[in-house]
Amino acid sequence: MTTICVFGAGRMGSALARAFLAAGHVMSVWNRTPERCKPLADLGARIAPSLDDAVAASDIVVVNVLDYAAADTHLRSPAVSHALGGKLLVQLTSGSPDQARQTAAWASRHGSRYLDGAIMATPNVIGQPFATILYAGDHPTFEANKAVFDVLGGNTVHVGDDVGHASALDIALLSPLWGTLFGTLQAIAVCQAEGIALDAYARHLKPFTKIIHDATDDLIVRARDRRYRADDDTLASITAHHGAFQHLMSVCRERQLNGALPDAFDGIFRAAIAAGHLHDDFAALVPFMR
Ligand code: NAP
Repeated sequence: MTTICVFGAGRMGSALARAFLAAGHVMSVWNRTPERCKPLADLGARIAPSLDDAVAASDIVVVNVLDYAAADTHLRSPAVSHALGGKLLVQLTSGSPDQARQTAAWASRHGSRYLDGAIMATPNVIGQPFATILYAGDHPTFEANKAVFDVLGGNTVHVGDDVGHASALDIALLSPLWGTLFGTLQAIAVCQAEGIALDAYARHLKPFTKIIHDATDDLIVRARDRRYRADDDTLASITAHHGAFQHLMSVCRERQLNGALPDAFDGIFRAAIAAGHLHDDFAALVPFMR
C-alpha cells in the first residue's frame, strides 16, 4: 500500500491524516507543533522527528498548512528539498493560482511530481462520499493516484492540466459564498435597524433563494455568451437594478448603517452607467470587474 506523509496537523491536516489511517495507509505525520500529532499517533501514525524524515519515508507527500509561505519555510529547506526527489508532492493548502504554478516549477526543479488541490469541504466531512476535492496538474499523475485521493472524499475531481486551476476554481467558488455571507450581514443590519425579526427574515428568504439562483445562472450564461444588451429574456436591466439598489443606499444613510459594501457596488454600477450601459442587461457589468 502507498506510504503517505501529511505535513500539517491542524484541523484539516489531521482530518486528512485520519482518513488515510482509516483506509489502512502507512503514514508519517509532521507538524511544526509536535503535540498536535499526538491524537494521530494514537490512531497509528508515526510522528516523524523531522519533515525530511517524513518525506524520505513516503511515496506521497500531502501538505496542508495555513498558507504557501508556511509550507515553503519547511519544504524549501535543503534537507526536505533533497528528500522530495522522486516523490509526489500534493499541495492541499489554500493559495493563489500563481503560487501553485510557482510551487510546481520549484518541485519540478527538485525532481518531484506535483499536483495542486483545493479542498471544497470542512474537516468533519473529509472521507465522506460527498466531500469534494479539486486537483490540478498532470492528468496521468492524477489518474495513477486517484484511488489514494478517493480516500479523502468521494468527489475527487481533476479540473485541468494547468496546475493553477484548482486554486482559481477554489477562489471562484468561494467568491459567491463571501458575497452571500456579506450580503446577509447587510440584510441583518437592515432588519435589526427596522425591527424585523431575523426568524421572519429567514422565512421570507427561503422562497426568494430560487430567484437569486436563477439570476446567478442567467448571469453566468450571459457572461459566457457576452450577451450584455437587454433583450426579451432579460430578467432585469441595469436601470431596474440600480433604481432598487438606491433604496439600500438610502436605508444605510437613514439608519446610519455600514455603507461600505453598497458604496463599492454603487461605484461599479456608476462606471457602467457612465459608459452608456444604463439600459443594458445586468450582465453588462461583467467587463467592469476586470
Ligand atoms: P489550522 O487548524 O489553523 O491549522 C494550521 C496549520 O498550519 C497547523 O498545522 C499549523 O501548525 C500550520 N502552520 C501555520 N503557520 C505555520 C508556519 N509558519 N510554519 C509551519 N506550519 C504552520 O487551519 P486548517 O483549518 O487546518 O487549515 C489549513 C489549510 O486548509 C488552510 O490553507 C485552509 O485554507 C485549508 N482549508 C481549510 C478548511 C477548513 O474548513 N478548515 C477547508 C478548506 C481548506 P502549528 O500547529 O504548529 O501552528
